[in-house]
Amino acid sequence: APVLIWFRQDLRLADNPALAAAGDRPVLPVFVRDEAAAGRWAPGGAARWWLHHSLAALAAALRAKGAGLHLARGRAEDVLPALARAVGADAVLANRLCAPWAREQERRVATALAGQGVRLVLHELPLLHDPEALRAGSGRAYEAFTPFARAVRPRLEHLAPPLPAPARLRAADGAPAGEALESWRLTPRPPDWAAAFPALWQPGEAGAEARLARFLSAGRLHGYAAARDRPSEADGTSGLSPHLHWGEISPRRVWHAVRAAAEEGDRAAAEPFLRELLWREFCHHLLWHRPELPERPLRAAFAGFPWAPDARLLRAWQRGETGFPIVDAGMRQLWRHGWMHNRVRMIAASVLVKHLLQPWHDGAAWFWDTLVDADLANNSANWQWVAGCGADAAPYFRIFNPVRQGERFDPEGRYVRRFVPELARLPDRFLHRPWEAPEAVRRAAGVVLGRDYPRPLVDPAAGRARALAAFAAMRRRP
Ligand code: FAD
Repeated sequence: APVLIWFRQDLRLADNPALAAAGDRPVLPVFVRDEAAAGRWAPGGAARWWLHHSLAALAAALRAKGAGLHLARGRAEDVLPALARAVGADAVLANRLCAPWAREQERRVATALAGQGVRLVLHELPLLHDPEALRAGSGRAYEAFTPFARAVRPRLEHLAPPLPAPARLRAADGAPAGEALESWRLTPRPPDWAAAFPALWQPGEAGAEARLARFLSAGRLHGYAAARDRPSEADGTSGLSPHLHWGEISPRRVWHAVRAAAEEGDRAAAEPFLRELLWREFCHHLLWHRPELPERPLRAAFAGFPWAPDARLLRAWQRGETGFPIVDAGMRQLWRHGWMHNRVRMIAASVLVKHLLQPWHDGAAWFWDTLVDADLANNSANWQWVAGCGADAAPYFRIFNPVRQGERFDPEGRYVRRFVPELARLPDRFLHRPWEAPEAVRRAAGVVLGRDYPRPLVDPAAGRARALAAFAAMRRRP
């Protein structure tokens, strides 16, 4: 009998366990846009742009293999049983997801399908290791990265090889016409804030493979450990995050390719990059075991943290007008590119939650809407980590100083000058602290504070003191 392949965040043909399991049975590949199930975690603006192009790429790839992609909108538990009936399918094959809403969706779909004698067959999570099969000695899930990485790393020596893409697909008969992708209007109408995206990103499986190949060429893997913390190095990191989020490439494929590339020279050269893949893994395991991660602080005491929500401060941060050049450069890169360098994500997030005392949820929500790689596990876990309320957060008193971080990681100011051009003519010495430059120096650089560029929203030392006082107040609460 035919089977439905329910595509979700696995928009690829290679190393796709659900697709491979179909064997040579006739298939109907389906993508269901179920925004009711996702609720507030439905894709944000930048992710919708990505999804549009990724679905177009997947549809073309499937068509070339012999079975087109059926697009439907509505509740998955309504759509999938109806399609199964139409083509006479006896099973729906899909890959699992970690997000709590997606797991609930799986339960509803399974029940609805069972009602008509159709099975939902769920394949593995988009991870290197099954979170259910990895627990600390206490039997509880790992909540600190270092012991987690120590436990999981040796096991990955035996990671199964990726599955090949199917050579061809046989299309099931009887499917009704699906919706047209254009009718979903996922890409922005004018004004097109995503205008810069097409030059930077190629959504889809071929784009993911091209990114990986580029990263593994020209010694970039070997330079990664040194370059990854330099936001001005456009090619310092892989840029694979949105491809991994949408499952256009599997982490297993990336893992093996990186290991193989390093093997040609120095095997250990792969480790710093593999460690970042383990951070992704850690965040996803956390979300799997602690489904409250996107909503509530993992450290219960933080439920009483005295945030000071202020719409004006939040807006200045969103627009890249905080007066801290490294933060503003990051927030403007985010808006223009749909992506921000990891180091700058940490600094920008830290300034928002610590110096400005804005709730981490507000920052996470903005990232959700503006990142092409917005990912419930990675975004939530990293925000909690920065805010100090996560499972494995840095000690609260270690507060990033946005001036010193800028000077350390963008010492020649190439990153700041690129995204905050109004400061371009300031000498390096004052680039990350324009308010400290003598008036004459600023004038010579064409910068009038408050006119061309804002004064800092808070004095760094005063912001730090206020954050520490807020933390102390939280700890005094009964
Ligand atoms: P590379 O350095 O090439 O790393 C390779 C891969 O490892 C990445 O693609 C990613 O899948 C994974 N990875 C790297 N760093 C981390 C990390 N700290 N946590 C989890 N996985 C990691 N990443 C997202 O994918 N989606 C998000 O929504 C997201 N939100 C973040 C929010 C904050 C406040 C911070 C500090 C970090 C966030 N990150 C998020 C993690 C990280 O910034 C990005 O994964 C990384 O910048 C992506 O660029 P890259 O692919 O070039 O990374």
